[in-house]
Amino acid sequence: MKQVYLDTFGCQMNVADTDRMELLLFHSGYIRTGEMRDADLILINTCSIREKAEQKIYSLAGSLKPLKVANPGLILGFTGCLAQQEGERLLEKIPFVDLVLGPDGIEHIAQVVDEVKEKNGPVIRTQFDKEKNYSIPELSGETPLHPGPSAFVNIIKGCDKFCTFCVVPATRGREKSRKAEEIEQEVRLLVSRGAREIILLGQNVNAYGKRGMRQVVPFHELLYRVAAIPGVERLRFTTSHPKDFTRECIAAYKNIDNLVNHLHLPVQSGNNRILEEMRRTHTVEEYISLIDELKSAVPDVALSTDIIVGYPSESHSEFEDTLALMERVQFSSSYMFSYSPRPGTPAQDFLDSVPQSVKSKRLQRTIELQNRMSRELGQKFVRQEVDVLVEGGSSRPGIDFRGRNPQYWSVNFTGDRKQICPGDTVKVVVEEVSGHALRGRAISVNRNGKRLTLGEAPTATG
Ligand code: SF4
Repeated sequence: MKQVYLDTFGCQMNVADTDRMELLLFHSGYIRTGEMRDADLILINTCSIREKAEQKIYSLAGSLKPLKVANPGLILGFTGCLAQQEGERLLEKIPFVDLVLGPDGIEHIAQVVDEVKEKNGPVIRTQFDKEKNYSIPELSGETPLHPGPSAFVNIIKGCDKFCTFCVVPATRGREKSRKAEEIEQEVRLLVSRGAREIILLGQNVNAYGKRGMRQVVPFHELLYRVAAIPGVERLRFTTSHPKDFTRECIAAYKNIDNLVNHLHLPVQSGNNRILEEMRRTHTVEEYISLIDELKSAVPDVALSTDIIVGYPSESHSEFEDTLALMERVQFSSSYMFSYSPRPGTPAQDFLDSVPQSVKSKRLQRTIELQNRMSRELGQKFVRQEVDVLVEGGSSRPGIDFRGRNPQYWSVNFTGDRKQICPGDTVKVVVEEVSGHALRGRAISVNRNGKRLTLGEAPTATG
């Protein structure tokens, strides 16, 4: 078999797209390698959401040139959002590239690679498929994919929100929902292969069902359907938009036992004028009212968010509003960024009026606030028992395993390596908070519905 090296930048959608390419290429005669030097095909699945991500990709591209010089038969491709955004321009910037493929063309990766071989020259594929519904055809036979305990399932692609700072509508196109039956089928398959936690994935999962479906299924209904699939021990979803987050979703948190108590709900700014400039279509008050309602339905829910500081024209007091909102909501974690203009977005034409030094200071204050809140919120778990889905072993000194609790806190813990396996749900007594993670010790493991106190001899299971 030929070998493909795959590298991924950016969000979980890209991680899922890379997995999909691995599967499609496997069926076309390629096996994944971890060594670039051994590869016949190198694919870099790119991100263009921030300037920094782009810079990293261009610097990686420079380091790939010697491989191409040493092996002219090597096919080198760029896929994903930067590929979509740049299209032909990418060939001017990186002339030794053979393949440029946008996210909407991921399904055709094997054919595009064949085209490169036939043509013996670069192939660019960045058009959106407006006709076809969003469907991920099932591939029969052997597959190289062994999901970990936690598996992503794409339910919707694209975004119709058009926030002024965001490249997604331009790079991933309009929203299209995937058929609920197909999603259920994929979840069943993943569970049969060992997945315990399912994470429903999309740029705006709450818009699920609005476009691209003949039989409309609202997002909350999909939650009930997936949660009911035997073997789904935990259900999560990401990412959400406040405008589409319905009361029915809040009810789902209350009614569905295996829907975990965590919500990632991007707010971006705590000031209404800035939110309007960003075209977020909701106010601070509406956001807070949703959060308050959710907290009263599910008191131990953990919340995380995305924040942008230094958006064009953001004043000092408007920035302070963002800090105030963060304090008010008490996020357990945040993805925090200072604004940088992105090509092809409406905000690119706005005067980037906040000096870089001011943006950096604002970002620093935001990070400091988040660090303090995370520390304080983490303290509430100390001396408590938490349920941890074991993701794998740890090579860090003094830690045997890593996993996550339902509220999406990373938990590092000690435990008997002979008795605990990835995919187990383990009771851990939290002993301390370390950065944004909890640390503790395993006291029991739940396997096949039975609780085994660690230290006891494991009983054989049928
Ligand atoms: S909702 Fe999210 S993905 Fe869609 S445009 Fe806004 S920031 Fe981008």
